[in-house]
Amino acid sequence: MLNEEDDSFRDSISTIDAKGKRAWIFPKIPKGKLYERRKWLSYFLLLFLFAAPFVKVNHHQFMMFNVLERRFNLFGFPFWPQDFHIFVIIMIIGVVGLTLFTVAFGRIFCGWFCPQTIFMEMLFRRIEFWIDGDRGAQIRLAKQEWNAEKIRKRLTKWFIFFVISFWIANVFLAYLISSDKLILLVSEGPANNTSTLIALLIFTAVFYFIYAWFREQVCIIACPYGRMQGVLLDNKSINVAYDHVRGEKEIGRAKFNKNEDRTTTGKGDCIDCSLCVHVCPTGIDIRHGTQLECVNCTACIDVCDSMMENVGLPKGLIRYASEDEIVKKEKFVFTNRMKGYVAILAILLGVFIGMLFLRNEVEATVLRLPGQLFQHKGDKISNVYTFKIVNKTSINFDKVHIELVSPKGKVKMVGPRYFKVSREGITEGTLFIEIQEAVLESDKTKLVLEVYNDNKLIDNETTNFLGPRSFD
Ligand code: SF4
Ligand code: SF4
Repeated sequence: MLNEEDDSFRDSISTIDAKGKRAWIFPKIPKGKLYERRKWLSYFLLLFLFAAPFVKVNHHQFMMFNVLERRFNLFGFPFWPQDFHIFVIIMIIGVVGLTLFTVAFGRIFCGWFCPQTIFMEMLFRRIEFWIDGDRGAQIRLAKQEWNAEKIRKRLTKWFIFFVISFWIANVFLAYLISSDKLILLVSEGPANNTSTLIALLIFTAVFYFIYAWFREQVCIIACPYGRMQGVLLDNKSINVAYDHVRGEKEIGRAKFNKNEDRTTTGKGDCIDCSLCVHVCPTGIDIRHGTQLECVNCTACIDVCDSMMENVGLPKGLIRYASEDEIVKKEKFVFTNRMKGYVAILAILLGVFIGMLFLRNEVEATVLRLPGQLFQHKGDKISNVYTFKIVNKTSINFDKVHIELVSPKGKVKMVGPRYFKVSREGITEGTLFIEIQEAVLESDKTKLVLEVYNDNKLIDNETTNFLGPRSFD
């Protein structure tokens, strides 16, 4: 049974020892049904992660997060700085969706989908198992003197970790600056792009530091999502949980004795084999209850199930369950809190869909030049404007021109009347608008302009025209 003394595990974290030094965690190699499923999912997600910046949909990079130019592509759908409000809504939908998911299903995201867990547990940790062996061999290797075997194993591991970190840094850069730009920079050679090379080496160093040294501490100490669990989870949230009612029973857990019948002795089903602790990549004991350090990796479920099978007890002593399911035998319920999140999510999705329908593929802006009033040109009045045309499509516009629809007047371009706006490009310039003074009804007239590519209307815009004040 849990008691007051057991709470001492909350006083420290598993990666720091009593002297405040780093305590290395040497988890056992996980095996089992859930681990196999996670492995296949992680292959798919790794493929997605590495391929997404190099796949194009309608000439748009499938996924791109170009924060420097504030341009983002999500699933081949481009978002420009002008669409930033839509991007913000997507981010909010993501946060609310993840919150709802967490309230209902705990940290399933961490164990099955989080890139950090996938890289650490499914890539780097498996390389480590392959080179250094299982938990026992790793502990022995860490303790032994620096002999030929240890040097060979350590150098091999560090070299492979560095190469993968460099590879991840390149992919990361492809997400940031676009794969086309990355390929161009690579083809030009590092000597011509020293600043990019330095950035790449810094990213490599960060990834290497995380996966070779910092490791599970990202989840335990640094991850903000992990820190939010305390407020998101409640007794009805489904989590990787130890069934303490069954595991401890009346007199608590006890070692297995094949000659006794545990149903009559009052001993719990936990045979205190400690395998769930040894297999845990964050070094915790799930039998202490739900902890912020648990990334829901399911390794303890698998190992406990196989132990239960070996000793002839029912599986599921550690399983996906809510506290209320364990204590009160209550099935999953869709709580009012979850309903509230669903309602907010539905509203946000409605706003998002509305914004997508209202979004323009071409955006023309015509603004009066700041600080300029108007000029008399005979019987005409002239105003000067700057214009900007954003082409978000994957088609080049070769014959763009701007027409004044109302009132009657003339558009005079500074430069050629017809100009180009390349695909995913922006063209800016200056123009004059001249209107007969007699046509103006007030000192501020609303203008309606249309933008054409050849004869096709691609956008329209309104702006103001200043004229002399009438004192009639
Ligand atoms: S693996 Fe299962 S039986 Fe073994 S200590 Fe953990 S909970 Fe108890
Ligand atoms: S307690 Fe279990 S599910 Fe949680 S991190 Fe450890 S092994 Fe994974």
